[in-house]
Amino acid sequence: MAVTDKTTLGARLRELRLAKGLGLREAATIAGINHGYLSQLERDEVAQPAPPVLQKLAAAYDEPFLLLMRWANYLEDDPQGLSANQSRALKIMGEPTAAELQAIKAVLDAMRAGRADMSALQRLDGHLDQADRAEIRRHVLALLRRADALDVIPTPLDQVTEISKLVIAGEVTLSPAVTRRLRERFGDLVDKALELILGSVQFDSREVYLQKGLYHLKHRFVHAHEIGHDLLPWHRELYASLDDKTRLKPEVHDQYERQANQAAIEILTQGDRLRAEADDSALSFDLINRVGSQFEISVQATARHVVEETHQACALAISYRGSGTGKLMPPHLYSSRSFEEGFHWQSDRAPAPLIQQHLRAAQRGDALEPITLADVRGRIATVHLDSLCTPQAVFVLFRCSPEKKPLLTRLTHVEWPLRSH
Ligand SMILES: [Zn+2]
Repeated sequence: MAVTDKTTLGARLRELRLAKGLGLREAATIAGINHGYLSQLERDEVAQPAPPVLQKLAAAYDEPFLLLMRWANYLEDDPQGLSANQSRALKIMGEPTAAELQAIKAVLDAMRAGRADMSALQRLDGHLDQADRAEIRRHVLALLRRADALDVIPTPLDQVTEISKLVIAGEVTLSPAVTRRLRERFGDLVDKALELILGSVQFDSREVYLQKGLYHLKHRFVHAHEIGHDLLPWHRELYASLDDKTRLKPEVHDQYERQANQAAIEILTQGDRLRAEADDSALSFDLINRVGSQFEISVQATARHVVEETHQACALAISYRGSGTGKLMPPHLYSSRSFEEGFHWQSDRAPAPLIQQHLRAAQRGDALEPITLADVRGRIATVHLDSLCTPQAVFVLFRCSPEKKPLLTRLTHVEWPLRSH
């Protein structure tokens, strides 16, 4: 069918649907999306439809997903040089020099087919919305069920890899000839660049490559991250069909990396399972350490996951130590849903000086006393603090004491029937 460049995404989707002879409801049912939403899409009332929705529509209309992603303006031509995302990721690692960046670019180019993952992406901040998280969890639980791995703790990744029809093919390496050629140009920067690449998955050959010598918990995380890329259909299909001249826009690529990280953590925590275990008692780093080692997940990933999922009201501040200097970097902040509702720390009201002050106290090894905080309605709450220092980062956990029912309310319930006699 002839679609001109000026046609909007909505008009194009409508054309595809009509060409298939499908009504709105029918098409929505086949795609597994809401028909009201499809109608909004066709009227261009959705600013940026999420890739998972486009992937479902592409499958329903039997069209390449890549085409719909292009129409929705998620792709761009691959320019020379590092992507904004790669540069940002590398910045977090320290400040690579121009020469280092060039070496990394050359290594990445040499590994292009593998679409290598950069280590620092694990630290990528930012949040996924509820719909994304729910969709990812659905895919993860289905995979664990297929692999007979649900409720097997720690998650048997080899079993999950096998059922995904993936193979751990080996370590991230370049052929000796390529390494030699790159070394001639960049010296030992090549080896440094190789160290920064944690893993990759090749969708055509179904091979996963992982960095040599990763420590156990990180190895598991990267392994699960690569499974995650393959598990989410809107990742798998896109990466399998991207050519060398096209790439995701940097902000979309960031989003994809966050989704793969989310899939990784969901695979390792078995959806809600770790959260349920942790919610049995008041949160503390002792507890986080205990469940983290039971599920074989790093304390950092466990802490973030627990705080984001818990029913308790709490927040987590993490400050990474600058490489070389050891100085604390600006903190990352995560809030549980109830803490966010009560205090809006994540949205707009986080008291930055108070958080920094406690991170510095934790770094010094000071004992952290409880503090009082006013919530958004002006009620005063007692917040308990706990801290943890690792060579990489300083963590402070803020936890509200469970709300006590005011004594009066309880008495009224007892007294009322008595009085009515
Ligand atoms: Zn990745």
